[in-house]
Amino acid sequence: DGAEEADKRDIYYREAKKEGFRARSAFKLLQIDDELKLLEDKTVRNVADLCAAPGGWSQVLALRLVSDERPPPRIVAVDKYEMQPIAGVVQVQGDITHESTVQQVLQHFEGERADLVVCDGAPDATGRSDFDEYVQHQLLLSELFVAEKLLKEGGVFVAKVFRGEHSGELYARLARDFQEVLCCKPRASRNSSQESFVVCRGYLAKALTVYDASAHEELCDLGPGRPVHQARFVACGGSDSLDADTNYPVASRHQVLQPVAPPIAAPYMEAIEERRRGQKRAL
Ligand code: SAM
Repeated sequence: DGAEEADKRDIYYREAKKEGFRARSAFKLLQIDDELKLLEDKTVRNVADLCAAPGGWSQVLALRLVSDERPPPRIVAVDKYEMQPIAGVVQVQGDITHESTVQQVLQHFEGERADLVVCDGAPDATGRSDFDEYVQHQLLLSELFVAEKLLKEGGVFVAKVFRGEHSGELYARLARDFQEVLCCKPRASRNSSQESFVVCRGYLAKALTVYDASAHEELCDLGPGRPVHQARFVACGGSDSLDADTNYPVASRHQVLQPVAPPIAAPYMEAIEERRRGQKRAL
């Protein structure tokens, strides 16, 4: 049936349910971290997970940062949508582009700034790759702007990007703020997808601390000639990892597991509700 087909089609979806992750995307962060050891650093304590629902990345953060060998981390997960609770993670429900959301996140760091800001934010894809790349690019700039307000000097920023025609401009923009910009493709991210993740290390805290729209525009303006910057490509996940593009067969007595924590709310639910309301009005 459909559920078994989904398990067959998507090995990481199947594995996520088996391993207790609420989203397959958890494996993307795990593989990036296995490669770059971002969370091994014992000084990493204050972490913001922007666009976090349903919470797979926050689960990974809690899994790798909560330990007797280090001070308890302050992990703050932000999303427009409510999430099921995760032990060791504080939730802020709000739009990341709102200043009040940023202030709420900062409050949880008790006067300190973030060591790490991760963002797996995605607008709803339309399937038109040039348009999707553009919208993703805009969301990433919003995330970057928030990260600039949260990060401490030397901090790390991880964000989803859709690679395309304008990636060079994006890397150039990021290279202004960070010592190093990498483009990471985890094995859990399909080859057929434009998706990859920038990992920007060594935040140069020269950036804005107070909102100033004109200064922000100036920072984003790459000027005539539009410099193109290459980011070093890093394949994450190792050659023995499962391949996201392969249909792995299921056992003849395959048991379909339920999702770990289905979303409390999701855009598709909103769309169904809107359509229902529209139909009622039409009657
Ligand atoms: N990393 C998550 C996980 O592992 O469970 C999955 C994140 S999901 C791909 C993208 C999320 O981005 C959605 O939950 C969506 O609500 C959120 N999002 C997109 N734009 C946002 C915004 N402006 N403010 C807050 N959340 C946003």
